[in-house]
Amino acid sequence: MNKKQFNFEEIFQLLKEELEDKKLPVVADPDWDRTINTPFKTLISCILSLRTKDMVTEKAAYNLLKKYNTPEKIIKLSEEQIQDLIYPVGFYKVKSKTIKNISKTLIDKYGSVVPDDINELLKLKGVGRKTANIVMVYGFNKTGFLPIDTHCHRIPNRLGWIKTKNPVETEQKLRKILPQKYWDDFNHLFVKFGQIICLPVSPYCSRCPIEEYCKKNGLKNSR
Ligand code: SF4
Repeated sequence: MNKKQFNFEEIFQLLKEELEDKKLPVVADPDWDRTINTPFKTLISCILSLRTKDMVTEKAAYNLLKKYNTPEKIIKLSEEQIQDLIYPVGFYKVKSKTIKNISKTLIDKYGSVVPDDINELLKLKGVGRKTANIVMVYGFNKTGFLPIDTHCHRIPNRLGWIKTKNPVETEQKLRKILPQKYWDDFNHLFVKFGQIICLPVSPYCSRCPIEEYCKKNGLKNSR
């Protein structure tokens, strides 16, 4: 299949029209709370969001960052205090440790500033490719990055764009086939699409705006 046959232009346009007015996840939302909307907020929110629903992430991030919005303020908290603020996010005990460690590393090695360099971000313990890419895109508004979460991995596979086993492979393949002009919109559109229509189990294929372009339309367990 060549790039034209993937129908990127039509698919992105239809998804934009369908999802325009839907709320963004907290890590990507520019209107979240301007007083604390910094790369540090994006980084910490993203760590909180792993295996956690958006609404829970948003509340936890707000509880923690409204008052403790810098690495210096975070390291003054005990792990138990962080746990109380972020509960009930998934793995809140592990995440409180990770957040404290990252804050300490930022102070010790980066002058308390989140680095705007993906390779430096990946050196922070607990930061993987998805989080690092998200910080570059939504924390620093940089182009040229493709954050891949479970939705961004699953949907291009369903559409038939790629055939990959994990998000790292998906990122590599998409970098080759998806023209860069779509990269800025890719993550937030596909996350919203995956949360609302192309669900992991029983997707709503019958009301999917891009059904005609999908290789998997008519999935056995679709609605
Ligand atoms: S047709 Fe179904 S599986 Fe395909 S993109 Fe739409 S919702 Fe997802």
